[in-house]
Amino acid sequence: MKTPEMEDALDAMAKAMFGRGRRDSMGNSICVSCGTKVSLIIDPSLQLIEGALPFRDALSLKEYGISGLCMKCQDGVFGCAEPDDDDDFDTDADLLWERDQDCD
Ligand SMILES: [Zn+2]
Repeated sequence: MKTPEMEDALDAMAKAMFGRGRRDSMGNSICVSCGTKVSLIIDPSLQLIEGALPFRDALSLKEYGISGLCMKCQDGVFGCAEPDDDDDFDTDADLLWERDQDCD
């Protein structure tokens, strides 16, 4: 279980990174990163429901409860590219490569 201090730290981090708070976003069922409206249900087809994006599986829904990221952003962040671990640091090229990965 997360402590209030951790919650505050996560919230401050989200505000700094995304310009909106994590708890506010969750309270309004939107993605903290891109502002997409999310639906707190599981639907592997990821069909929008009244303009809201569902989650692919239980793990992703749970992840929203932690990070506040929608399915799209979770795919972008955690989805495809595994960072190569033969390097001790990420070069700019690596970062660009990861960002350019197509998750479909
Ligand atoms: Zn998002």
